[in-house]
Amino acid sequence: MIEDVLARVDQLKGETASDDPLVIAKHLKIETVPMEGSIKGYAMHISVIELIGYNVNLNAIWQSFSTWHELTHVFDKHIYEPGVSFLCDGSFCEESVYSNNIPRHERIANFAAAHAVLNDDDVMEATGFSIPAYREYRKLSAEYTKFCRRYEDLRDVIRFSRPSRSMLTQLNNLRRSIHSTSEELKELEDELVNCYGPRTLEDAACDLGTEIRILEYKLEGMRLRGLDIDPHELEQYNKMFEGVFAADNM
Ligand SMILES: [Zn+2]
Repeated sequence: MIEDVLARVDQLKGETASDDPLVIAKHLKIETVPMEGSIKGYAMHISVIELIGYNVNLNAIWQSFSTWHELTHVFDKHIYEPGVSFLCDGSFCEESVYSNNIPRHERIANFAAAHAVLNDDDVMEATGFSIPAYREYRKLSAEYTKFCRRYEDLRDVIRFSRPSRSMLTQLNNLRRSIHSTSEELKELEDELVNCYGPRTLEDAACDLGTEIRILEYKLEGMRLRGLDIDPHELEQYNKMFEGVFAADNM
């Protein structure tokens, strides 16, 4: 389970009081080998000796991510899976979380690395998921969609049968709810735009000093751990407020 691997990352950080994958490797008695060249890193074992290679020519973001990635291949025992004793990483570190081309252990290693290099609270803040107005906006948006769906369903029923008095009252109530919710949504949109501006995945990655690819793994990992976030929403974020921006520009 991915959640167990992420919990193990937290546990290792706690045991060493460090975020540094090289410190954690030492704690786990894993040999670390600095290297150069085109590969990003490797993980292997020779009999009982476990070791990881990390590329010193990568920038700080990718070096930390890749080293955590290799570390995961060892502590989650990927290098002991049947037919594997050596894992060499070229581009898997950069494969999207939504890609189907990524082998299971590479995916797990990316989830663990993203979880390790980014802090939950920082991510919640940079993406806007911790902003109360945004949380309210998401809640109301879901309610609005529910009201609209019920309204459409009821209207379909009424179209093909003689409506009862209670049905008509219900239809009217739904119409009123849709109207008032849309007014509230508009107000919240204004507040969000005026106070925070649009928050795209790109904005958030930039604020956090990370790469979009890494942030996607982190967010998806947070969602799997049951946090109330939706990574796909961020891609839609500035589209969500398009109407408001268009009106402002006039
Ligand atoms: Zn790998």
